[in-house]
Amino acid sequence: MRQSLVSLRHDLDLPIPYAYAGSRIERAAALRGDGTALAALMQDARAGFYVIVGEAILLKKHGENLEPLFSPAEACAFGVAHDKVFLGLLSDGAPRFGIALDTEVIAPQQSGRNLAVIDLRSLAAQGAVAAVHLPPLAAAKAVLGWHARHRFCPNCAAPTKSAHGGWRRDCAACKAEHFPRTDPVVIMLAVAGTGERCVLGRSPRFPKTMWSCLAGFAEPGESIEEAVRREVQEEVGLACSRVRYFASQPWPFPSSLMIGCYARAVTEAIVTDKSEIEDARWFDREELKLMLTRQHPDGLTTPPPISVAHHIVRAFVDWGDSVLR
Ligand SMILES: [Zn+2]
Repeated sequence: MRQSLVSLRHDLDLPIPYAYAGSRIERAAALRGDGTALAALMQDARAGFYVIVGEAILLKKHGENLEPLFSPAEACAFGVAHDKVFLGLLSDGAPRFGIALDTEVIAPQQSGRNLAVIDLRSLAAQGAVAAVHLPPLAAAKAVLGWHARHRFCPNCAAPTKSAHGGWRRDCAACKAEHFPRTDPVVIMLAVAGTGERCVLGRSPRFPKTMWSCLAGFAEPGESIEEAVRREVQEEVGLACSRVRYFASQPWPFPSSLMIGCYARAVTEAIVTDKSEIEDARWFDREELKLMLTRQHPDGLTTPPPISVAHHIVRAFVDWGDSVLR
């Protein structure tokens, strides 16, 4: 019998609450091509639907509580979804789907039915829904957003159609098959040779007191290690040697995968690229500890625990230079 992938995952028990990672749903990709099976699963009494509206999430309000999962009857009552995706099965076989609805469909229904539309970043940051819902919401948002942006074939410009349980778009004109993309972003902490300090930067988009890891898209034809070294060089002018992988996090805004790393900086002088970041400087582990615990005398902070950046900094504070071994 085929072993459940979810049951084999030891990382699920780790106390690392990255939002959007750690899904309990088995993707059951073998079912994606079976239209009859998927139609039956959509009618299954245990089926649950996550509803994406534009870039945000539709929720049911029960007093103070927010519930993101809709029953087949509730999902059906909204009318025709313009896209659907089969997300997979829970360990008890309950199917999970994502559906996309237009804002215009939801707006008139919102007031009378205790519905709320909230963006996924806020849901995660505020802990507004149970953490177990965040990975499937992230998957649904990323795939359904891809459908919305890929209506036409990049080869021949003919309209494309959703296929394979929502995990592909097919072009009838030139027979091309198109798959949802994930954009790799390297996010890294450059650590000095002493192992006691590292570089954080500030984007103008950050809250005023927040400093974080450097980050940037990996480019075609580049390894993760090469992307890390190039981004550090471009953003702060430091040369790096050894690069070590730490952990990754899906980041569905719209479809990134954050690849967390450490890099050994072999030069000292920071030269900030002002077109990319507002400021960057060295921080020692003691100062980082104050930032993580919100005790910094100037009120400086690191990103919140929902982001992998927080855990990259925290692991360096806890383990020091061994993050690079
Ligand atoms: Zn085509």
